[in-house]
Amino acid sequence: MREVFDFSLEAIKPDRQEVLRLQGIAPHIKPSKRIIALLDEAMEIFMNAANPVGIFSEVTVSKFWDIYKGQGKNEADTPLEHIFPRAEYLALFAFSLGIKISKKIEDLFQKKEFPLGAMLDALASSSAERAVHIAERKYFDFVSAKTNNSKSKVALLYSPGYCGWHISAQKKLFEYLCPEEVGISLNSSFLMIPLKSVSGVLIFGNKEIHVFTNNYLFCSHCQDKSCKQRINMIKK
Ligand code: SF4
Repeated sequence: MREVFDFSLEAIKPDRQEVLRLQGIAPHIKPSKRIIALLDEAMEIFMNAANPVGIFSEVTVSKFWDIYKGQGKNEADTPLEHIFPRAEYLALFAFSLGIKISKKIEDLFQKKEFPLGAMLDALASSSAERAVHIAERKYFDFVSAKTNNSKSKVALLYSPGYCGWHISAQKKLFEYLCPEEVGISLNSSFLMIPLKSVSGVLIFGNKEIHVFTNNYLFCSHCQDKSCKQRINMIKK
C-alpha cells in the first residue's frame, strides 16, 4: 500500500509556546514586544509559504532489513534493530513543508536577517515535529482500520541519522519509497531537499516493542535523550 498523505496547514500550525522554547525562551519568561512581533511576522510567512505533503509505502520486515542496513555504516547495536523485527506493520515515510519555506529561510539568512530567519526556522522545525505526530496517528488509524486490533498498540517514526541508524541509509530508503513523486529528493550528503523534510520508518506494534533502555554506546553523546519522553508517553 502506497499513499500520499494529506496534511492540513491548520493541523501542523506550530505552537507559539514551543517555538519560543526552541528559541531559548522558557515558558515562565514573558517575551518582549520585539520577539512577539518577530513571531507574528514569521507565522504569517509560514502560513503563506508552507506547502505540506507526505507519502508512505508499506514494507515487509524482510525488505526493511535491507533498507535498515543501508551502506553498512550503522552502529554495531541499535534500538531500532531490536524493534522493527517485532513490528506487525512497517511503512517507509517522508514529509516535507515544501521548497518555498526552505528557500524563504535561506533567503533571510543570506540577507543577514538573522532574528526573523531563526524564528522562521524554529517555526518550521516545530511544525515538522507536529507533522510527525500526525503521521504516526494516521498510520496507526490506517493499520487499526484494516486489522481491527489496536489494543495496546502504537505507531512511531524512526529516522536515519538518529540512535545509531546511519544517515547513509537514506539512500536505500529513498530508492524504495521514491518520495521524489511529492518533491522530496536527496543530495550527495544524504540530506533531504527541501531542507525542512522528515523521513523514516513508521513502526506499528505492541507498545512494549518501543520500550528500551538508552544505554547504547552512542547515547553518552546524545544531548536531548528524546527517547525517554517518547517511552514515557507510550507507557501512560
Ligand atoms: S539517548 Fe539519545 S541516542 Fe540514545 S536512544 Fe535515546 S534518543 Fe537515541
